[in-house]
Amino acid sequence: MSTLGSGNGNPQARIMLVGEAWGEEEARQQRPFVGASGLELNRILQSAGIARSECWVTNLVNARPKGNDMGEWIAARKKDLTPDHVRLRDRWVLPIVYDGHEALLREIDLVKPNLIVTLGNYPLWALTGAWGVLKWRGSYLDAEGLPKLISTIHPAAVLREWSLRPLLMADLKRANRERHRPAWVDPKPQWEFKLRPTFVEVEATLHSLMHELDKREVWLDLDLETRAGHIACCGLSWSTLHALVIPLMCVEREEGYWTSEEEAQIVGMLQAVLTHERVRIRWQNGLYDAQYIHRHWGFLPRHAQDTMIAQHSAFVSMPKSLGFISSLYSPHPFWWKDEGKTWSKNQSEDQLWHYNGQDCVRTRECGEALTPMLAKMGLAEVDAFQQRLFTPVLQAMLWGVRVDPERRRSLADGLTTAINERERFVRDLVGEVNLRSTKQMQALFYHDLGQRPVMTRATKKAPARVTMNDEALTTIGQREPLLRPLTNAIADIRTLTKWRDDFALMRLDTDGRMRCSFNIAGNAEAGSAPYTYRLSSSANAFGTGGNLQTIPSDKSRSAGKAAARGTDIVIPNLRSMFVPDPGMLFFDTDLDRADLQVVVAEADDKDLRYVLDNGVDIHLFNAFVVSGKEPPPLDELVETHPRYADHRSPMKYAREFAKQFCHGTNYGGKGRTLAAATGRTAAEIERAQRLWFGAHPGILRWHKRVQAELERYQEVRNKFGYRWHVFDRIDAAFTAALAWIPQSTVGCLINRIWLKWWDELPEVQVLLQVHDSLAGQFPAALADTLPAKMLAMGRIAIPYPTPLIIPLGIGTSATSWGDC
Ligand code: URA
Repeated sequence: MSTLGSGNGNPQARIMLVGEAWGEEEARQQRPFVGASGLELNRILQSAGIARSECWVTNLVNARPKGNDMGEWIAARKKDLTPDHVRLRDRWVLPIVYDGHEALLREIDLVKPNLIVTLGNYPLWALTGAWGVLKWRGSYLDAEGLPKLISTIHPAAVLREWSLRPLLMADLKRANRERHRPAWVDPKPQWEFKLRPTFVEVEATLHSLMHELDKREVWLDLDLETRAGHIACCGLSWSTLHALVIPLMCVEREEGYWTSEEEAQIVGMLQAVLTHERVRIRWQNGLYDAQYIHRHWGFLPRHAQDTMIAQHSAFVSMPKSLGFISSLYSPHPFWWKDEGKTWSKNQSEDQLWHYNGQDCVRTRECGEALTPMLAKMGLAEVDAFQQRLFTPVLQAMLWGVRVDPERRRSLADGLTTAINERERFVRDLVGEVNLRSTKQMQALFYHDLGQRPVMTRATKKAPARVTMNDEALTTIGQREPLLRPLTNAIADIRTLTKWRDDFALMRLDTDGRMRCSFNIAGNAEAGSAPYTYRLSSSANAFGTGGNLQTIPSDKSRSAGKAAARGTDIVIPNLRSMFVPDPGMLFFDTDLDRADLQVVVAEADDKDLRYVLDNGVDIHLFNAFVVSGKEPPPLDELVETHPRYADHRSPMKYAREFAKQFCHGTNYGGKGRTLAAATGRTAAEIERAQRLWFGAHPGILRWHKRVQAELERYQEVRNKFGYRWHVFDRIDAAFTAALAWIPQSTVGCLINRIWLKWWDELPEVQVLLQVHDSLAGQFPAALADTLPAKMLAMGRIAIPYPTPLIIPLGIGTSATSWGDC
């Protein structure tokens, strides 16, 4: 070991790690990476197959900034500039950074590593000019005059956000592979993209693809760029090096790139290729592109693999964007997503077309890596099923749901009247105030009405701050009963406005139907349906429809909250605006207490199984158990039994408590949290938990099994073979992992029912998946026979040792979804 400059390590090192600057411990020892980040770095390096002793380790600046903040030395804004600042690349820095950069270049020159790995944003920027480490991490970079370089995140970021650890690990594994020689082992691909094709060239390429398809199966990667609701270009690749980009829109030719005859012919040829019986279409988020192709070209490509879905099958909680997955799976990753996604007028269109070609080949690289990886992980079947959902889900999106315009208007009007009434009430009480303005609301409550400000809870990402959110309204109402009519009215206005704007006034398609987008592989970054394999919904590619998962019902959260604050809010039957097409009946199916059924199966609890299978009021039964009372004979706890009411009335409150308590306890809730949720003391909760686990030891065994599985494999599994690989610290993930098992099992079950109907009952049109239910329509003429068939096919066994079949119910209506 030697020191050189202020870096340290092996002077023969083939790999050089460059951090940002010293922390406290580094400053004390005058060596890089010897504090907490350094220890974490050593551990990850070792797991990636690299010994620290084989590396040269240094920093952009081998000194310690005030508060360990590099920002102290680099001006973020003009007003931070001082006469001392000097220019380095595109930023103003203090001389210590400028000199550090010079020294770093000399150090690189002396050590002459094969590979540099930058840790964190600043060394990435200083050596390459790229800014934004979360985007650039994983990229292979070639900076002029420097050895090849891989950028990754800083180990301190991993200590703050544990779920980043696998990314640092993946990048260091790549570094391990690349460190042995100066040239890239996986060199930069020499793409051959056809970007401004002539008609003859397009024709020739599509003909030759047709020719191939007539002989064998061909994988084609497909990607569109869209602009203002239209297809700007369509990219197609058939190898990781070759792509044809067919422009449709073109600034130089206002009427389009092609004559209308040429365009019609091209679309015809595309249709022949993309729907060929031997074609295998691979795309990233193909549900989006398919909506455009269907709308503008009138056909649907033959889907085989969506890389976003494949990534979801492998790692449900990881990001799924193409830029991200390419950083993991491309042989030579490079962040290209700033190059053209949002095309602007002052950018050459060739750049957009090149970007489109790159999207295609990157999708291919990801697909080609994901397929064998999923097989190796034992997840090929899981992914095959998830990929099969693509077509029925797309079909539901394209069909859309008919909306009764009269009903919609009257629902919106009713909600507006209810909102106006409450607004008048608020005005009478406190005068003019804009309820949408946080500032005015805070001034009203925290100044005029003299309330103590309510704060949000501090999180890792954001410090506590003063709030006027719904919880704050509840808190103020509880503290000050005199203000409760006011806080209730404001909370009501918020709820009613949401119901009106999100549902009754949801943007409809031009034909008056509601079309939304269902996401099979929700985006974990955006928090949509990431873990449970249920679908999430949002506005579609053309901005119509919206998130239906929050449509209120008696059971929904917003309705529950309204009931809890004791207001007279009436839940409008918003589902009643969705009506069947002529000659059709609407149906709504629902799984009976699905999550609970799975918990009972996981716990293999015979008593609870009996209770569920025999119509016993489970909450009443549990109320006896957790109050330490002997329950009466179980048949007396069935609602239809003459003695049911006698048992229930003295247990009214105990039953409500049991309902919340047992649910919370089953999902790993502990004393203090459950005490807060149920209004009991922690000691009472602990006693009830002893009674509960004593009566149902299987539930505790299930908890322990999940804990052990998490510790051993860092993952949980459900009985359909789906897995959630937990990248977070496992103690933090335990309760979420418990909840994941029933939720994902039920998600998988609903999707299996959907697919079964799709395969075997083509008369059934599933149009909506909301929570545990599937809704849609079928021909009214089949009303006598079809529901029984649907229910019979819905009896899909969940493969427990004693297979679990969750009863499915069905309601139908000729009037609307809300009347089922
Ligand atoms: N963080 C760095 O970037 N460098 C060190 O040397 C220590 C912590």
